Amino acid sequence: MGLEGYRRIATKYRKPIVVTGFEPVDILRGICCCVRQLEQGRHEVENAYARSVRAKGNLLAQRQIEEVFQLADRKWRGRGVIPASGLELRPAYAQFDAVRRFGLERISAEEPTECIAGQVLQGLKRPYECPLFARQCTPEHPRGAPMVSAEGACAAYYRYRPGRPADGPKEPALSSVSVSTRKPAAYLLLAMG
Ligand code: SF4
Repeated sequence: MGLEGYRRIATKYRKPIVVTGFEPVDILRGICCCVRQLEQGRHEVENAYARSVRAKGNLLAQRQIEEVFQLADRKWRGRGVIPASGLELRPAYAQFDAVRRFGLERISAEEPTECIAGQVLQGLKRPYECPLFARQCTPEHPRGAPMVSAEGACAAYYRYRPGRPADGPKEPALSSVSVSTRKPAAYLLLAMG
């Protein structure tokens, strides 16, 4: 999608936004760009992944997405429904809509009531504040989406939690975890290459 869509966010919230890749060197470079902007009092959108991301994005892909999809209200984990925040197939492509074709509207993916995934994703709580973390909820038996894939917040906290033995998971030393709850000073956007 390019960089343009992020500029008003950086301006409105006065936060640096840096686009970068998934490789360790890309992440380090992205962090370096964020720190440099903060030190210099800037809040701009910066591209630290120029070998893959162009300022205007992939124009061909944007045209094709525009042709096939239209904006739609979407439900987001922990936030509820946000108007015009997602995409749905345009009527001309409705025959390919699996939700309508297979009657999937009736299927919902509810998380257990103890799962605080929504608050974790909003940065309001840390995974270890969830009563299920590392007990009933582990990567082997996830109870919520952030524990499913390796890059999920709960899975990452589980994997790198203090006291984790090298030969397998045991009860973690959660009391020794200390993480700042300050709002983020900058944003790092990891772009798919
Ligand atoms: S630890 Fe599991 S149950 Fe708790 S918030 Fe994370 S995904 Fe949800």
